[in-house]
Amino acid sequence: MGNQNGFLDKVVLVTGAAAGIGEAAARAFAAQGANVVLADIDQEGEQVAKSLCSQGYQAVFHACDVSNTASVTTLFAFIQDTFGRLDIAFNNAGIDIESTKLADGSEDVFDKIMDVNVKGVWLCMQHEIQTMLKTGGGAIVNTASVAGLGAAPKMSIYAASKHAVVGLTKSAAVEYAKKGIRVNAICPAVIDTNMYRRAVASDAKKALAIGAMHPVGRIGKVEEVVGAVLYLSSDAAGFTTGATLPIDGGSTAI
Ligand code: NAD
Repeated sequence: MGNQNGFLDKVVLVTGAAAGIGEAAARAFAAQGANVVLADIDQEGEQVAKSLCSQGYQAVFHACDVSNTASVTTLFAFIQDTFGRLDIAFNNAGIDIESTKLADGSEDVFDKIMDVNVKGVWLCMQHEIQTMLKTGGGAIVNTASVAGLGAAPKMSIYAASKHAVVGLTKSAAVEYAKKGIRVNAICPAVIDTNMYRRAVASDAKKALAIGAMHPVGRIGKVEEVVGAVLYLSSDAAGFTTGATLPIDGGSTAI
């Protein structure tokens, strides 16, 4: 079992861990010896945790809707009772259910996206910071997006939600900088997960066009995101806080 990043027996929370970027991050933390709590609204996370345990890693699933206060409170009571600490949190759960121009958007979609992408991150950060303060610090990584750094046509609500994640990240980073808590955000462009596959819906032309939007000429892989998450969570990033790291094949360099 590798431990090059110092994650051995660290308690790590990953939200949105049942699939995609979250699942890949949970697997990577576990493979480096961390004690991983996988949280997701989708019970499929139980299978991910089971598969990690069957490989001899430390992982446990806890069902949680990050947009629901009671559900988040229960998750953190579980973490406190089980481990008594939290070293690293990857706030990654998020949704993308929009493909209309701003003037055609619905209030229902606005509320859903904001509830999960913004309130969910905010609620989890509140508990994470309170828990980390008790043990002298920790590292938080939030999943924003390139849509948190610039325009996202036909996804303005999503873009607004990810700009909000950047705002929460930077503000908390400064507020807790002297308390040993680092807070950073990753800003991926298009990554090959269910979220992307749902958007493309096996339309090969659309897939090609999306790949071509990135200077490198292709979309990203979950492993290419996870490397950044592990780095920002590790002591190697000890002087990095409040950063918004594009993982975007050059998209934001244009
Ligand atoms: P995904 O759909 O494969 O995984 C998202 C996970 O979040 C799912 O397991 C889902 O069940 C979970 N989830 C959704 N709502 C939840 C809730 N209320 N409470 C708890 N869990 C919930 O998508 P992904 O691509 O892995 O997305 C992960 C994050 O990355 C999201 O925040 C997304 O906005 C962001 N992101 C994705 C891309 C991309 O192209 N895939 C690009 C930039 C940012």
